[in-house]
Amino acid sequence: MARYTQDSIERLREAIDAVELISERTDLRRRGSRWVGLCPFHEERTPSFTVDPERGLYHCFGCQAGGDPITFVRETQALDFSEAVEALAERYRVELKREREDPAEEELRRRRERLLALLDRTAIFYSKYLWDSAEGVRAREHLAARGLSDDVLGAFRVGYAPSAWDRLVLAAGRDGFTEAELTGAGLAQRNKRGGLYDRFRERITFPLADARGKVLGFGARALGEEQGAKYINTAEGEVYHKGRTLFGIDQARTAIAKAGRAVVVEGYTDVLALHQAGVAETVAIMGTAMTREQVAELARAVGADGTVVLALDADSSGQEAMLRAARVAADREVELRVVELPEGADPADLVSREGEAGVRERLASSVTVLRFAVGRVLAAADLATPEGRDRALVRARGLIAEAPERTARRDDLIRLVADRLDVPLEYVAAAPAARAPARSGPTAGAGGEEARDGGGPRPGAGPARLDAERTFLALCLRSGPLGREYLGRLTPAHFASDLTRRAAEHLRETFEDPLAGLPQDDAQLMAAIAEVALRADTEDTVEEGVVRMSFLGLEQRRIEREIRHALAEGDLQRQGALASDRQRIRREMDAVMGQAP
Ligand SMILES: [Zn+2]
Repeated sequence: MARYTQDSIERLREAIDAVELISERTDLRRRGSRWVGLCPFHEERTPSFTVDPERGLYHCFGCQAGGDPITFVRETQALDFSEAVEALAERYRVELKREREDPAEEELRRRRERLLALLDRTAIFYSKYLWDSAEGVRAREHLAARGLSDDVLGAFRVGYAPSAWDRLVLAAGRDGFTEAELTGAGLAQRNKRGGLYDRFRERITFPLADARGKVLGFGARALGEEQGAKYINTAEGEVYHKGRTLFGIDQARTAIAKAGRAVVVEGYTDVLALHQAGVAETVAIMGTAMTREQVAELARAVGADGTVVLALDADSSGQEAMLRAARVAADREVELRVVELPEGADPADLVSREGEAGVRERLASSVTVLRFAVGRVLAAADLATPEGRDRALVRARGLIAEAPERTARRDDLIRLVADRLDVPLEYVAAAPAARAPARSGPTAGAGGEEARDGGGPRPGAGPARLDAERTFLALCLRSGPLGREYLGRLTPAHFASDLTRRAAEHLRETFEDPLAGLPQDDAQLMAAIAEVALRADTEDTVEEGVVRMSFLGLEQRRIEREIRHALAEGDLQRQGALASDRQRIRREMDAVMGQAP
């Protein structure tokens, strides 16, 4: 991976004309020192997208997209940092200098490049074999029977691995690749006598690529009946890591960024079928467990306020997977929703059964994970006996406690449960017993699995709270030394949003020039910082009272959160102390309000 010197990047930044660059995607009009236009990242009718030409920053007040020109190119062209830098350098004729590499690193990079080249050639080899060989006919028939078009198979470079033992080994050898490279890339293995043979034989192959389309490995489906496992993957090795890969991310990335949504399915052919049906924001996890790395990748791809929709198989392992995914995603700022599929149907079946419109309808009717978990409790409940209904009631109540209070969402869940269990609404709405475990995620009640640190989605971590945190940071930036002092008072406990907490840490370091040293490798963090910095310019009140009130608001929320924890843990002493803290904050707020003009 190319690393460029900080100096090169700075020279590039100076050379870029942000207004010209961004104008290619949306019409911008000058307004004061800014340029405004319709946001290229979300549908809107009145412009909330702003470009600051002087500092080369953009921000959308509608969808919170934001960053510098490099971010803009990354987001709109689905490139990674180095690629975006390279593309811009070419366009603005800036010469880039590489960071000096140490010899060991350079060696590693070269080896990796060799393995990637081998994997890429192999994808071509398998793909050709699918379309040109006599043997490939059967594979093509199999794929056609699933309703997959030649176009979609071509786009995803689906291929066929020959049944002979050594076709790939021989072909790669002719191209100058060594045996060590073949095993390193996970494409060949040794028999007992030390001979090398192809890992994939008589199988349909699906290249597993990273976001840039670089092939890292393959998933392969058996065609014959007596072939052992139906699906096998490239062995974990130097370039392929199962837990990091999302099948189809290279094809889906731009569509995901545009839609602010990713659809996650289980199987390769599900991805192909949905892309063919026009749902181009679909990717697959390999197997049923979604890993942290996959969630992180998805969160990056959907962007701020994005949604990840899980459309996993309706069997119980698929359902467990959805609940597990919720737990993994809980500390990410990404909304996770679930599509309920009919029993025994996978998304590919759905496309052929219900057509494109049917699938879109199902995706549109996705539910929150909480609603899904409650639904499972109700589905499993023994409604015939009062005892069975009570058991379900207890479990449902525990789940509903996760929903923020006084929200329509919570209300809906309460009605649903009361209705199904045939009990008065108050039974459901009653707070669960205080000894309820503090760390029950939205799934602990339903899945009965281990509680995870940090629990489910934090209650109240919604947009309003996020907004309060970022508004406060913007006010601090506006307020000079006073703001710096207030910024210093924040502790991690003041934040419901991890992203905003990290933005605050960054701002503390770079208070004088918040846009210095933006974290290039973290687009979300960069967008959050850019948002706060741009907001700081538009906040025009900087009276101390305003900053103070904003801070007290955060204090109040922190205390309320801690009270909830103490309540759940049955810590009476702490509850008492916190309650008097809350009183104190209220008095301070009243005092500030009293001084207001
Ligand atoms: Zn926008």
